[in-house]
Amino acid sequence: MNAFTFKNNSLHAENTALTSIANTFDTPCYVYSKSALTHAFQNFSAGLQGCDALVCFAVKSNPNLAILNLFAKLGAGFDIVSGGELARVLAAGGDAKKVVFSGVGKTEAEMQSAVEAGIFCFNVESRSELIRLNDVASFMGKVAPISLRINPNVDAKTHPYISTGLKNNKFGVAYEDALDVYLQAAAMPNIAVHGVDCHIGSQITELSPFLDAFDRVLALVDALEKNNIHIQHIDLGGGIGICYSDETPPEFSTYATAMREKLGNRNIKLVFEPGRALVGNAGVLLTKVEYLKPTESKNFAIVDAAMNDLMRPALYDAFHDIKPVQPREGTPNTYEIVGPVCESGDFLGHDRNLVLSEGDLLAIMSAGAYGMSMSSNYNTRPRAAEIMVDGDQCHVIRAREQIKDLYLLEKILP
Ligand SMILES: *Cc1c(COP(=O)(O)O)cnc(C)c1O
Repeated sequence: MNAFTFKNNSLHAENTALTSIANTFDTPCYVYSKSALTHAFQNFSAGLQGCDALVCFAVKSNPNLAILNLFAKLGAGFDIVSGGELARVLAAGGDAKKVVFSGVGKTEAEMQSAVEAGIFCFNVESRSELIRLNDVASFMGKVAPISLRINPNVDAKTHPYISTGLKNNKFGVAYEDALDVYLQAAAMPNIAVHGVDCHIGSQITELSPFLDAFDRVLALVDALEKNNIHIQHIDLGGGIGICYSDETPPEFSTYATAMREKLGNRNIKLVFEPGRALVGNAGVLLTKVEYLKPTESKNFAIVDAAMNDLMRPALYDAFHDIKPVQPREGTPNTYEIVGPVCESGDFLGHDRNLVLSEGDLLAIMSAGAYGMSMSSNYNTRPRAAEIMVDGDQCHVIRAREQIKDLYLLEKILP
């Protein structure tokens, strides 16, 4: 489903013109479609009908409370990677009993708050973390449910910065060590072994890495069974890619069917941690062209959004389609779409053929995931407003930051 379509030559989010959003709320701003978010979650879940499954939205992809609340109402659980994200999930009305806690660096305080909240499972990423969690739970007189995050050593064929399933990165427990660490966990009084977890990377557009990883996980599950460790759930992580330009990621239903077939008749719950796939194409970053600056070698279109608003192009050289909100007739020029930040890496798109005038609005497409969540105040730029569109209604779900708030916590020394 595409919630961002042209009507009368004007780009809309659902039934709302992006021009009117810019007029009312100013730019830059993130614009999300409630129906696209809803549809993505329901579509993901549809493939799991009749199967014991839990879909945990990866909070880090877009942690806005309104988005978490929407998913919570649709029945989602949440994948968190910090105590901050746990607090957000609870503030948004999420159910702690549907929360999985991933991440390589959980602090004692974070473990405590998650044990206290009664989360569904800790995805433990190292032996040291396991020992610490047992200590924390013991001190609290509780038992912590765990999976070990296994590093299946498969190549997710994605950008190296977002690939996590290969041997040489910091995530998970090496596959070869897993059985041994599980035996240690099973013997710990304040640890309950519940699952096996793996997450091999992000923006994966082929099915085969998921299948390879699942094969390895299932082999481990069967080996654990032989050692009297009964696995109740398998967490397959997130990572399903989306279409930014011409990628063809697997359909959710194809993915779900493949996983269910592999699981066979084992009586094991499946947990998924999709982030990008649920929100990526449900949001755009709306920005205005401030200046057109032709130079000898390039034409620059300097817009009012920048790398601090959307970091993915600068960080991963990621591609986002860029559409004029009201396309003009004429001969296109080739533009570098850049922001005002004082870095040459501050670009949103290279070599875009567009017909532009100063003051035009542009929509940076597919910006719903890892957009606002990775934003910063670099160059003392207030973070953009976030708007949720619901049909012809618009709601501010995060107000634009005020400049004075950006240095509120700072102090001049006497
Ligand atoms: C980031 C992350 C996800 C979500 O990844 P997507 O590519 O957005 O689906 C899921 N699980 C873990 C452990 C993660 O770190």
